[in-house]
Amino acid sequence: MPTLQILLRVIISVTLATGILAGAGPSASASSVSEAATWLLEPAKQQLTNNKTKQKQSAVRQNKKNTNPKQNRKKPKKTTRSGKRNIKQGNKRREDMSWVHMQQKYPGTFVMSGSRDMRSVSLTFDDAPDPRVTPDILDTLSRYHIRATFFIVGDRAAKHPELVKRIMREGHVIGNHSYNHAVLSKLAPAQFQQQIWKTDGIIKRIVGVSPRLVRPPYGEMKPHQIAWGKQNGFTVVNWDVDSEDWRNNPSSARVLANIKKTLQPGSIILQHAGGGDKQDLSGTIHALPLLIEMLQGKGYDIVTLPELLGRKAYR
Ligand SMILES: [Zn+2]
Repeated sequence: MPTLQILLRVIISVTLATGILAGAGPSASASSVSEAATWLLEPAKQQLTNNKTKQKQSAVRQNKKNTNPKQNRKKPKKTTRSGKRNIKQGNKRREDMSWVHMQQKYPGTFVMSGSRDMRSVSLTFDDAPDPRVTPDILDTLSRYHIRATFFIVGDRAAKHPELVKRIMREGHVIGNHSYNHAVLSKLAPAQFQQQIWKTDGIIKRIVGVSPRLVRPPYGEMKPHQIAWGKQNGFTVVNWDVDSEDWRNNPSSARVLANIKKTLQPGSIILQHAGGGDKQDLSGTIHALPLLIEMLQGKGYDIVTLPELLGRKAYR
């Protein structure tokens, strides 16, 4: 998609989000407006926040890339006219580096994958519950007798407790995905902790458990927040396989192709069981049976995150 079109989508979404929240009454604070804006259009969020910085950084990286022929060979996809590919690759590499660093600094507390020695993988679904998407995902998992891990957003759980109960009843594992999909890394300690505890309380009230697993929205968490998580018995779980089902409403074929790119033993696969108003997750829904059959065809065991990581699901 051309950059201009993305920019337009962002502007429209932000305007919409601001408008909706302004209509919601005086309780809508400035910070919740920006959270809602990012929530509405997750894929566009990064471009919205610091597009300029990233363009600068990606230009620097591109220069470095050109002087390194080995690296050029590794990345088959060339620069697009808009330069979007550069920005995406740049982001991904920087995230990977910092995640690897955090994994080393907090072993067992910040994880992106399970053991590479076992032929097991985990399906994880973020942004649940969402009545438009989650039931279809659950139906398919049930048909194949597969158990997965759902990362729950607190305010959504409060609205759709019956769906949270169904997730639990059907043998899946529940994790904490913040209260209202905030960018946790930008929050002060008290606000950050409130995002976790508030969701913890809601989940406990609905299904009687306190999740050990936390996945920060956008995978973003600061080292000191991970340290807090460790002290309080949480495990922060990101992923090493991104289906990118949140980006531009992809087809099921695209979702599958994205997953195959980095799939390996021990992989944690990121998908979504809910989204913003503009998001169409039918690609995820239609890809799921094919994904399960592909994984089983390759001899993978599909297990829940606690099984993959060898730890308890709840505190
Ligand atoms: Zn999310």
